[in-house]
Amino acid sequence: MALKERRDVERPDSRVRGRDPRAADALAAFKRLAGVDGAGARERDVNELRSSGRCRVRAARNDGRRGGGRRVCAGRTGFVRVRGFVTRLSTCTRSAGRWSGAEAVFRSMAEKSLVSWNAILMGFGMHGRGEQALRLFDEMLGAGIAEPDAVTYLAVLCGCNHAGLVDDGLRVFKSMKVAPNVKHYGTIVDLLGRAGRLCEAHEVITSMPSGIEPDAVLWQTLLGACKTHSHIELAELASNKLRDMGSNGDGDYVLLSNVYAAKERWSDVDRVRDEMVRNDVRKTPGFSYTEIEGVAHKFLNGDKGHERWEAIYRKLDEIGSRIKGLGYVPDVSNVLHDIGEEEKENALYHHSEKLAIAFGLISTKDCAPIHVIKNLRICGDCHTVAKFISKAYNRVIVVRDRARFHQFEGGECSCGDYW
Ligand SMILES: [Zn+2]
Ligand SMILES: [Zn+2]
Repeated sequence: MALKERRDVERPDSRVRGRDPRAADALAAFKRLAGVDGAGARERDVNELRSSGRCRVRAARNDGRRGGGRRVCAGRTGFVRVRGFVTRLSTCTRSAGRWSGAEAVFRSMAEKSLVSWNAILMGFGMHGRGEQALRLFDEMLGAGIAEPDAVTYLAVLCGCNHAGLVDDGLRVFKSMKVAPNVKHYGTIVDLLGRAGRLCEAHEVITSMPSGIEPDAVLWQTLLGACKTHSHIELAELASNKLRDMGSNGDGDYVLLSNVYAAKERWSDVDRVRDEMVRNDVRKTPGFSYTEIEGVAHKFLNGDKGHERWEAIYRKLDEIGSRIKGLGYVPDVSNVLHDIGEEEKENALYHHSEKLAIAFGLISTKDCAPIHVIKNLRICGDCHTVAKFISKAYNRVIVVRDRARFHQFEGGECSCGDYW
């Protein structure tokens, strides 16, 4: 079912007041910095940002769902003003990724605190602007004004990771002047894993210093890389670790199953599926939001609960035929293998982010950018489709998924297809 709602949605970060279009991005930037995600920032950094606000973002205290780090979310406790750099940075990035503008704003600041350095670095990092992040980081070190902290390093590593700058990332990691935490290690595992350097990625996990325990995310990262690069042995090892840790996510099983399927080991595929049934594994539902005139619209995969669902599905059909004419071929490799090709295509066509984008197309003016937030990582096929749509319909589409921002424009994505 779809929910049409005004702010009262179950995920606090979606309760962004929608009328000020800058609010969502400011909030996202703020959260990234404040949380990253919860570990790096200190209270005074958060306060510094918070007290310098102009853009109005509703904020509330930690809602306890993530424990530890202070959460910023829209609640009913009143407005907190978040102004200045974060806002202007967000405005710049929001308007078609004008990074040169964001940097100009940063350069115009009379005093650049560690927080502002971190904000711009994190902005570059999250948008996959690894080269710019590195350049600015070198400048920061050279200027000797602010000492990098854990957040700074994470931002730079994040940029290297999303831009595929493996050697640079490793160099920065080795040069760290503060003790790396599990998030830094996670980024390095991801960096190596994406590049297919799976044994090294595994080695990073096993050689972490005592006191830092590899968490489920690290093993899931390795498992994801094993799926991409079809490495059965390490996939099995990672999935055993996850099982030992009590992680019972459907994504882990699907990844392992797909590793076997890629090698046509069907009996293993069946075994994994039986295990899922035995362990009562439920699928984490994927959902996406888009915001139209201040109202957040939520879509689940295959959703037909929205009041305009028929128009949305008609639009999806139109999109399908239009982009197939431009050369789009559905990528069904992430769908469980044991359904027919047509069903796979249909399952793909109705992913929540596609529904949200289609709804955005029919509900906004020509050439207005479409913004979507997805709770999971965007899948390969939706990524391809979004690229085609950006070209076929001449729209900028920004998707913030669990890991990063993707900005689709003119048939390309800002991530350069590396995510
Ligand atoms: Zn998808
Ligand atoms: Zn992308």
